[in-house]
Amino acid sequence: MSETLDCPSTNGTIEGGRWQSFADQVLAGNPLTAEQAAEVLTCPDSELLSLLDAAYRVRRHYFGNQVQLYLLMNAKSGLCPEDCSYCSQSKESEAEIPKYNILNREKLLDGARVAKERDARTYCIVISARGPNEREMKAVETIVPEIKEKYGLHICACLGLLTDEQAQRLKACGVDRVNHNLNTGEEHYDKICTTHTFADRVDTLKAVREAGLEMCSGGIVGMGESNEDLVGMAIELRELGVHSIPVNFLIPIEGVELEVPEHVTPQYCLKTLAMFRLVCPDREIRIAGGRELHLRSLQPLGLYAANSIFVGDYLTTKGQAPDADYAMIKDLGFEIVTSSEASICSH
Ligand code: SF4
Repeated sequence: MSETLDCPSTNGTIEGGRWQSFADQVLAGNPLTAEQAAEVLTCPDSELLSLLDAAYRVRRHYFGNQVQLYLLMNAKSGLCPEDCSYCSQSKESEAEIPKYNILNREKLLDGARVAKERDARTYCIVISARGPNEREMKAVETIVPEIKEKYGLHICACLGLLTDEQAQRLKACGVDRVNHNLNTGEEHYDKICTTHTFADRVDTLKAVREAGLEMCSGGIVGMGESNEDLVGMAIELRELGVHSIPVNFLIPIEGVELEVPEHVTPQYCLKTLAMFRLVCPDREIRIAGGRELHLRSLQPLGLYAANSIFVGDYLTTKGQAPDADYAMIKDLGFEIVTSSEASICSH
């Protein structure tokens, strides 16, 4: 047999061995370096399944085959004074979205009921704002104990920039976790927003951590960032000790400035999820906004790296029907973990 026919798909190497060695490394407690993380993002498409296999080995170690579901409640929409260029709720956006002030008690409670019915573990109360005003803080402080008593849900609040005192008040009223995304790498931040800085966002996460709340923070892929920017963000999140990392893929919305670059293919999105799993091995990784649009028919593969998704709609765009999500999870042989069951993540 000629030499060229000898194991042609691997060029004489064990295909995917590199990715398994990354999994071995992180399972042994040695974090991936920035260079290694960047390598993951440039994994050849022919090795994508091997990469996902390595990411799945790490995911399985910390989370088994469990999937956590989140339900988003856009508790205040539009009217935001900030200029985040990806966001339909920014003052600069011309997108036609609903605009309203913070929802009343009945609507917030009803959202919690839907979250419970849909087997969500966490109910996310989100407002569009630079930071919460007193009225918004009071609305959250009033509703959270009621939701917890009635539905026993894990509560995440996403209210913008927080002071130390506001973070402590959220902890005191029973909020479990605060979401505040870094969104992109530090070097790229001033290209997507000028009304606040990357450092402002990090400060809020530190206030959340100090208050004893869990931190949820992730980003948006496809905003013109480099691979190094994405890796920088992942490492920053690891070093901050965030518990949960939502990975969004930019949803182009008419009236919003940013457009998705061509390299953001379904394969690239999977490599991104694998990179986050290998850089932040024991953290919850969520496939967030843009899941349906960008992963398309490869959506189920994303759950070999990630261990959570949103069920239902995003803030101002539609998600797929919840039944399609349940069917996908069932077909994978994975199981939904609800609020009454403990996550097996030891972090
Ligand atoms: S602060 Fe939040 S709601 Fe306001 S424009 Fe930025 S991302 Fe949108």
